[in-house]
Amino acid sequence: MMGLKSYDSLKAAVCACFGSDVGIADSTSVSGGDINRAACLLLSNGERVFVKSNTLENKSFFEAEEAGLAAIASAGKIATPKLICKGCDPGSGTSFLMMEMIDPARPVRDYWEVFGRELAALHLADTEKLVPGGRYGFTGDNYIGATEQINTPKDTWTAFFRECRLEPQFRMAENCFDSALLKDILKLLDRIEDILIEPERPSLIHGDLWSGNIMTGHDGKAMLIDPAAYAGCAEADLAMTELFGRLPDVFYRSYDEVYHIQPGYEGRRDLYNLYHLLNHLNLFGRGYLMSVINTVKRYTA
Ligand code: ADP
Repeated sequence: MMGLKSYDSLKAAVCACFGSDVGIADSTSVSGGDINRAACLLLSNGERVFVKSNTLENKSFFEAEEAGLAAIASAGKIATPKLICKGCDPGSGTSFLMMEMIDPARPVRDYWEVFGRELAALHLADTEKLVPGGRYGFTGDNYIGATEQINTPKDTWTAFFRECRLEPQFRMAENCFDSALLKDILKLLDRIEDILIEPERPSLIHGDLWSGNIMTGHDGKAMLIDPAAYAGCAEADLAMTELFGRLPDVFYRSYDEVYHIQPGYEGRRDLYNLYHLLNHLNLFGRGYLMSVINTVKRYTA
């Protein structure tokens, strides 16, 4: 996979991508992200671009985001913003990722139905080029929010989910738990094979599929932004759409028509979401502790 061209300043990036006489006329910050700063740049030729930035040390956030967006784009099933370039801007002490600006647009009438079908098609797409041998993982480690997400390929989904998803997050949150709960956590990790099922195939999943990461493109259809992508179990993406409130029912129905949701999914859903609750606990603090504890207890009672 050819990576994006990298530039050593934002100005150089604009000149190289839009013309040597083009500069930045204006910059408006965009809110909504938890991790990066985001801005809409108005260029002197009238075009607008979206730029995410972070510190120089965190430039790997954008390399990982690029890899995730490129993987979803190359499956050809669902739109993602077109990437323009990336780079570092030592003057402002930032690294950046520049991409197509998505303007607010009116959703098509059957928005959720189409999105359900497209997400199912993404989940059915071949993952061999990303992780050969039908294994679970990704081309490299990436991030879930600002937390490193380990993607070392594993032969089974259950091993992957235990070793690369739950265990690292539990280790980071270790200080939050008393000894009784630590025992329950070990019990839960031991029981993953009894609770989860091995999917028929690995699916390329978005990995952080809450509603804030679904935008509407100029054609009125859903676009995916800000992935934490990997070849995993499709159910993990569905589960995340239910963590902070469900998407409309028609989404799940049309998804199921294209890629059948396996019986028992509801019983596995909260275990997938435990990963995200733990990540929120690790990133944003103890407001998420009770939800984590309750989920652990429910699966070990
Ligand atoms: P973070 O990595 O900090 O979570 P996001 O990628 O979620 O940041 O982006 C922050 C906000 O910027 C989003 O909530 C969305 O509203 C907006 N946004 C993201 N990508 C684009 C884009 N390509 N064009 C326009 N707005 C965007």
